[in-house]
Amino acid sequence: MTIVGICRPMRSPWDQPMDRCLRFFPCLIDPARRSAMCVKLVLVTVHLVYIGVLFLIDGDLIEKTKKEPVYTACYLLLFFVTLIQYFVTSISSPGYVLDAMMTLTERNVLYRKTSEASSLPASGKNGSFVVAVEGSQAGKNISGNNTPTWSKLVADLYPMGTTIRTWTCSYCNVEQPPRSKHCHDCDKCVLQFDHHCVWLGNCIGQGNHCRFWWYLCEETALCLWTGILYISYLKDHIKSSWWRDAIMIVLLITLSISLIFLLLLLLFHSYLILTNQTTYELVRRRRIPYLRGIPERVHPFSKGVSRNVYNFCCGSSSVYNMERLPTPQETEEKSRPYTCLDVVTCRCC
Ligand SMILES: [Zn+2]
Ligand SMILES: [Zn+2]
Repeated sequence: MTIVGICRPMRSPWDQPMDRCLRFFPCLIDPARRSAMCVKLVLVTVHLVYIGVLFLIDGDLIEKTKKEPVYTACYLLLFFVTLIQYFVTSISSPGYVLDAMMTLTERNVLYRKTSEASSLPASGKNGSFVVAVEGSQAGKNISGNNTPTWSKLVADLYPMGTTIRTWTCSYCNVEQPPRSKHCHDCDKCVLQFDHHCVWLGNCIGQGNHCRFWWYLCEETALCLWTGILYISYLKDHIKSSWWRDAIMIVLLITLSISLIFLLLLLLFHSYLILTNQTTYELVRRRRIPYLRGIPERVHPFSKGVSRNVYNFCCGSSSVYNMERLPTPQETEEKSRPYTCLDVVTCRCC
């Protein structure tokens, strides 16, 4: 008889209390979710440390608060708004391809039932559209009536002759519209995929890119204001106490590094918005088959600066917006060098 011995895995002394803790918080069983929670905890702690040290050490700020409470109230308001914006962005949906497909399928089923039940046109009953297609047909909205299937809708977004199988995600098994990408962290395909933000523990895509930009804006403003408060303290109280100076200088240096990083990120994302690009499209342009043949200086999805900004700021989060790839003629027109007349007529706008 053969006896097969299986070694029991070694358990560290922390495993048992950890298991007990996870029993009370089942949402933390997933390691990815646990690390995202840790990042959020670190972010809140860092914010509290910066503001706490300021109010504990800077006596002048307390005096100023008593004399001018509005000043401190505005600062604290920015502090809380930034944190709220961070949490809202971290839980907001980036716009998943699967959700858009399900919504369209449900709308198709609803329309079929409505048309069978009544002879009245279904479009009048269905209300707002759920999927919008932008392109040469000037904003064709997919409403209740005349709704194509998902496969047909996606196929129409690519130039003629493209095999739909090329654009089918091998992980989700769904047809990806242009600008979508499968995120391996979220394990889902995201519409207008920008990047997966480790800091937020969420993907940034069509549904939350605007929120993300506002978060960057608020965080930059908060960093700048906090930096000014730290500098004004050091200016008035330098050499009063070496340990206080040391704490304030160390915090000011890390704050300055964060501010530079945030400013660069804000400028970078503002540039992306103005040209209607995503980080993924800009960085991996040569690896995206349908962008490979387009000249570098041409932004295929740009509709002019003002229209790009309008769509970014005023686009409804309840609508899944699909963008069609430009035809070769449209690409050629966009790659045409600027003339004096183009500058006068504001072609880029
Ligand atoms: Zn996928
Ligand atoms: Zn992701």
